Amino acid sequence: MKTEKLFYKNQFLSSCKGILTEINEDGVIFDKTVAYPEGGGQIGDIGYLIREKTNEKIEFFNTTKIKGRNIFLEDFPSIKVENLIVHHIDKEILKTLEIGESFIIKIDTEKRARTTLHHSGLHLALMVLETIRPNIRKSIVGAKITSTYGRLDFATENKFSKDELLLIEEKSNSLIEEGLEIVTFPHKEEKEALYWQCLDYCIPCGGTHCENTKYLGKMKVKRKNIGKTSERLIIELSEIENFRNLYL
Ligand SMILES: [Zn+2]
Repeated sequence: MKTEKLFYKNQFLSSCKGILTEINEDGVIFDKTVAYPEGGGQIGDIGYLIREKTNEKIEFFNTTKIKGRNIFLEDFPSIKVENLIVHHIDKEILKTLEIGESFIIKIDTEKRARTTLHHSGLHLALMVLETIRPNIRKSIVGAKITSTYGRLDFATENKFSKDELLLIEEKSNSLIEEGLEIVTFPHKEEKEALYWQCLDYCIPCGGTHCENTKYLGKMKVKRKNIGKTSERLIIELSEIENFRNLYL
């Protein structure tokens, strides 16, 4: 069994019908879902379920993935595909549900839209950073993308200077103003092994993304000292209205 990932067919779907196929200690698994699970640093979607039988509205406060098939491609990070997607709900409510029941699954599109933009924005900032620090992506040791910020942690003793931060911010904002196309596309051997590309900069990424830099609004870039041998880059975006309106 696997969960059909409708967000890879159309990321702007805000709801779908799902049949409950499995219940585990954290939550519920459906045959398909629009909810994006936590992964690659991106937080999981939140939202609510409507239980068809009773019309009950049940909140889900996280989405994660479990199980799946390992892929080993020479030119791609090892990831798991064809996972089961768990919608985390209250444990007391969990006990009352039955396999085979129908639900409407609805995501919080405001949160997803903001998270999606911060994910694309973080890649754009990395793309600019790599023009001054080539291949720094190889020293990435952590990533987190939420609805209010995106951040990357690097294993480096070489702290980001004020000039570097200013350059990343200015160059990123000018690429945003240019309205450049962003594409995501699958590896030729695995359809869930995805790439993100803007201009000729291409990196593996299975997150959700906007299709043009113009949606990113305005970017602020900061750093944080997180240790002698590590350094954090943080981006924050504003003005997301145009993108949020694309959700169905
Ligand atoms: Zn990514």
